[in-house]
Amino acid sequence: MTVIKENWVFVETDLHKINPVSYQLITKMKQISHDPVVAVLIENNDANLETELSEYGPDKILLIKDDELEAGDDLELTDALNKLIQKQGTPNTFIFPATVVGRSVAPRLQARLRTGLTADCLDLKFEDDLLVQTKPSYGDNIMCEITIPNHHPQMATARPNVFTAEKENNPALKVEEISNLDWEKDTKLQIKSQILPPKTSNDITQAQRIVALGRGDKTDAGIDMANSLAKKLHATVGVTRPLTDLDQYTITEQIGQSGQTVAPDLLINLGVSGAVQYTAGIANAKTVVSVNTDENAQIFKYSDYYFVGNALEFSKALEAIL
Ligand SMILES: Cc1cc2nc3c(=O)[nH]c(=O)nc-3n(C[C@H](O)[C@H](O)[C@H](O)COP(=O)(O)OP(=O)(O)OC[C@H]3O[C@@H](n4cnc5c(N)ncnc54)[C@H](O)[C@@H]3O)c2cc1C
Repeated sequence: MTVIKENWVFVETDLHKINPVSYQLITKMKQISHDPVVAVLIENNDANLETELSEYGPDKILLIKDDELEAGDDLELTDALNKLIQKQGTPNTFIFPATVVGRSVAPRLQARLRTGLTADCLDLKFEDDLLVQTKPSYGDNIMCEITIPNHHPQMATARPNVFTAEKENNPALKVEEISNLDWEKDTKLQIKSQILPPKTSNDITQAQRIVALGRGDKTDAGIDMANSLAKKLHATVGVTRPLTDLDQYTITEQIGQSGQTVAPDLLINLGVSGAVQYTAGIANAKTVVSVNTDENAQIFKYSDYYFVGNALEFSKALEAIL
């Protein structure tokens, strides 16, 4: 099998719009790759998403204009991507977002291509052509570096907000339109309609300010005060995993490895210990303030400012001066 010296990124579209995680993956691959970064985009015949996509500097866009495939299910996407590889050649790497779609399509494609896939990477780098994929392992207690030395494409998924998207002008960009992929229709499943879940103002993945509640502040008074503080700061409330036991919090508000990756300008941690599974989700937070009664709390190592003391008292005092 000949491997083409290209690194591909799957561009996810959700109801005709590019999911921003695709820009994050393109930026990361541009930063680490010495070979061309190729964005694989499937869109409607009348769409023009390649214009938007080109602002993030891919070296090439493989463009598939196909109304049916754009609205296709995961099996159809898998088959089409498999056919694309048969047609174009096997790329060195193929990266997907660790979203619902990416987590479904990437392993199906991996199985068909009989290659390796590392799911939910937190970092990526190259050693020559070998992609070194970092992910938490063994109950998320250690970070492992995983490589796929003998098979191609080397596949990985990476979570939203782990990398930061940056615009880049690339005058050398080529757009190659691919037609007649002849992908197989899924006869078992028919998608009748698609709607996006309603966007709430509480989407922590997009929040610029987050007040994060940990077990050390998990009292009615602590939660009420954190909500009140968040309101004054125009912030969104996030939680550590122990708080998802409560009715009002779910995985949507949970920050961390098995929850959401966040990238706010300001993150205030109230009674959070700083377990690796939590800090895995906050690497891109810009200013981190943490409050903990334990002066040796791990979270302080990830903080720009910290206060050793009671989270509820701290929240009350801060709220009072805002
Ligand atoms: C596979 C796996 C995936 C996981 N995924 C996640 C994840 O995505 N997100 C996540 O959060 N966890 C996750 N966890 C759980 C994680 O290991 C920790 O147990 C969790 O992050 C701890 O939450 P915490 O910091 O709120 O609680 P604790 O670790 O119990 O920490 C509470 C902290 O509050 C401090 N404290 C106590 N009282 C006060 C007070 N009055 N004022 C101020 N500070 C006080 C304590 O000193 C302590 O440091 C995962 C675990 C596993 C095994």
